[in-house]
Formats: sequence, C-alpha cells, structure tokens
Amino acid sequence: MSIWQEEKQSVVEAAREMLSMGLVTGTSGNVSVRLAPEEDGRELFAVTPTGAPYGSLSAEDIVVTDFDMTPVEGELMPSSEALLHVEIYNRRPDVLAVIHTHSVFSSVAAVAGTDIPPIIDEVMISIGGPIMVSVYAFPSSQELADKVCDALEDRNAALIRNHGAVGVGRTLRQALDVCALVERVSQIYFYASLAGKANTLPDEVVEAERAMFVMRRRSE
Ligand SMILES: [Zn+2]
Repeated sequence: MSIWQEEKQSVVEAAREMLSMGLVTGTSGNVSVRLAPEEDGRELFAVTPTGAPYGSLSAEDIVVTDFDMTPVEGELMPSSEALLHVEIYNRRPDVLAVIHTHSVFSSVAAVAGTDIPPIIDEVMISIGGPIMVSVYAFPSSQELADKVCDALEDRNAALIRNHGAVGVGRTLRQALDVCALVERVSQIYFYASLAGKANTLPDEVVEAERAMFVMRRRSE
C-alpha cells in the first residue's frame, strides 16, 4: 500500500464531493494536495488523473509527482492543469490544497470578465478580498498557471478567464468550501446586477475584515 494512501483517499473524496456539489461535470476540474517534501527537499503533490470519471475513481488512480512533473507513483497521467497546481504551491507556501472547478456562475463571471467585489462578508473573511479574473491564457499552459497566480495573489480564490475557477486552502475541506462560496457569490452578484445594483460592503468593513483574514492566516 502507498505511504500516501490517506492523502490519496482524501483527494478521491474531495473530487467526488466536488462532482456531487455540481461544481464540475464529467471528468472536468481537478483536485490536489501538497505532500510532505522528501528528505532531500524534493516537493511532491498528489493530484487527480486526467480524463478519469470521478464516480469510479479510487486512491490507486491518484498520481504523485514532483514539482517538475516527474512521476513518482501512479499509472495514469496527472491532470491536464497540474502546472497550475504546481505554480500555486510554488508561489504560496501557505497553500496545502488546490481545487479547480468549472461551476456555472463562476464561469459566467469568467466569460464576462467580471471581477467579483466584496458583496458579502464571506468574500473578505474566507477569500481575503475580491475574486479577480485572470488574463486569458491557453488551457493547461504554464502561461495560464502564471496568469491565474497573478490574479490569485495572496487570496484564496480566482476566476480563470473564459474557463472556470480555482480555490485554495490549508485543507481540501477549506478549498472545497472556498469553491462552493465562489459559485454562490458569483450567483448572488449576477442576480443582484440584474436586480439593478450589486452594492459592495462599506469600505471600513472591507478593511476590518481584510485585517481579520490576514491575522487569522498568520496564526495558522
Ligand atoms: Zn479546467
């Protein structure tokens, strides 16, 4: 049995939950978790394979690779967006889990090129600020990884231009909750705009909640 059995199983469960929450369809989207580095410092992560249906996914299907995409364990090919996961882990030492989704209202905002401002408190408290849309880049490319990280900065979610969304966290649970929140906030923003106006939170609230987000992160 793999020494990463537990981590691989948690990736399978998060992928299934992502599907059951309606955040992806078919084999789209992907899930990864950062693993403890090897003794020589080589960084590793466990990621869903490309093109595998989540319903029949098992821990054995989860791929372990290093950050140069050298395979370490698993028969299948890593997710086509694995470069995005690596770039996030490289730029954000605080991130231990990454989930990429294609949920509908997040994709609507990503297609419209609409950043989601802080319209409810959870955007500031759980994501750390507005959800920004990245500059367009081709799927699965290093350029996409770079552009999405530029949009993400130190926050927990970003929208991927003409594509979908990404959520990150200290745990898979947190990353999943962030992805669900991104979808809900995108939906609220869409309907509020249709209703006539999407008011953002008052500036002083945004400032105070951002300070709370930063303080909580420091204590983690
Ligand atoms: Zn995608």
